[in-house]
Amino acid sequence: MESYKIMLGENEIPNKWYNVIPDLPTPLPPPLKPDGQPVGPEDLAPVFAMELIKQEVSPERWIEIPDEIIEIYKIWRPTPLRRAYCLEKDLKTPARIYYKDESVSPPGSHKPNTAVAQAYYNKIEGTRTLTTETGAGQWGSALAFATNKLGLDLRVYMVKVSFDQKPYRKILMETWNAQVFSSPTNRTKAGRSILEKDPDCLGSLGIAISEAVEDAVSHDDAKYTLGSVLNHVMLHQTVIGLETKKQLDLAGETPDVLIGCVGGGSNFAGLSFPFVKDKIEGRLNADIIAVEPTACPTLTKGPYRYDHGDAVKMTPLLKMYTLGHDFVPPGIHSGGLRYHGGSPLVSSLVHDKVVRAKAYHQIEVFEAALKFARTEGMVCAPETAHAIKAAIDEAEKCSQTGEEKCIVFNYSGHGFFDLGAYREYLSGNLKEYEYPKEKIAESIAALPDIE
Ligand SMILES: *Cc1c(COP(=O)(O)O)cnc(C)c1O
Repeated sequence: MESYKIMLGENEIPNKWYNVIPDLPTPLPPPLKPDGQPVGPEDLAPVFAMELIKQEVSPERWIEIPDEIIEIYKIWRPTPLRRAYCLEKDLKTPARIYYKDESVSPPGSHKPNTAVAQAYYNKIEGTRTLTTETGAGQWGSALAFATNKLGLDLRVYMVKVSFDQKPYRKILMETWNAQVFSSPTNRTKAGRSILEKDPDCLGSLGIAISEAVEDAVSHDDAKYTLGSVLNHVMLHQTVIGLETKKQLDLAGETPDVLIGCVGGGSNFAGLSFPFVKDKIEGRLNADIIAVEPTACPTLTKGPYRYDHGDAVKMTPLLKMYTLGHDFVPPGIHSGGLRYHGGSPLVSSLVHDKVVRAKAYHQIEVFEAALKFARTEGMVCAPETAHAIKAAIDEAEKCSQTGEEKCIVFNYSGHGFFDLGAYREYLSGNLKEYEYPKEKIAESIAALPDIE
């Protein structure tokens, strides 16, 4: 009998996170202030909890996970590694396809892996209120789950296009005691300045970040949190890959292909970084693929440059693949993939060709989501569907070559709050979108003049 899922016991939740920084082939370029000077801890202290600032620049390869965080992880971790037998059969592929199911968390995605950690460090340092932005609503829900669990208040700036498309995400956040605003708002200077220029602005993660940071720095008891992009977020997510490694060992497998979708890069990093370590050390020869939408093609079309993380240039400059901080992506359904930049760690690994990037169109991605739902039965988030599409492509290549590859992808979240997008696809109204070259050139031209 073959197993459909490979499970671990609660005592097998990793007790350390893996930090890829000391293992990078090229040292990470430091964050810079707008004047080009390196950012110090004192610059970040008004915004982030000190322990998270330390983790952001830590040279330690392994960082201990506090017991109180592991206790909360136990609510849904370890997550299952599932074998996609039914999809394999449907594709008639000799490949073996596995997916790490991060959709089993209470908010339904991988995001609480870092939300719980960020809320915890803030709590022990005396923060009373957290602020954040959210795109599709998954980060806001994950943080609401975490702040509610740890007894903190939360103010969420939700990108307007998602606020309007996904009312149930807001209700979920409110269920977990968070306050939710449609961004751009009139509550902040950043929001007001955008609304003056464009009262109908659909919002963007960049704008919402500006608002949430401004809210945090203008209140003494408040700190800001970010659900992706930053090094400490990638760090916390490595529980995904560390568990996957144990599970593949149990199945007697070595991965040939590892796949994750990329918005800011955290679920991709979480799955892949523990394997990236083996690849850099020459112990693993896997093809590691970061998948993004053609509507927001950061890694495939952006330059590797210093840029701001937000629209009004409040955040430090990070060296990353970027489409420019004033890039406002179209209102595609993968709200979680609509960010102009990418994780500096993931960017560095793409630049050094340890991992590679690939982009797909929205409609082929939804076709993959539907195939997955109709074979495996699982209804995925539109973001996750990008990883599924790439896994199907790789498995189909194996059908042609006869190669029996082991393909592993991260099932970053379920799609139960994204049924509006499924409705559009099923009724034939989903539109193809590829961001026009000229528009990308325009926002890239506005990048700061630092190489
Ligand atoms: C937020 C989100 C993403 C994209 O964010 P990353 O930081 O790139 O992982 C992908 N999938 C789901 C389900 C998400 O909630």
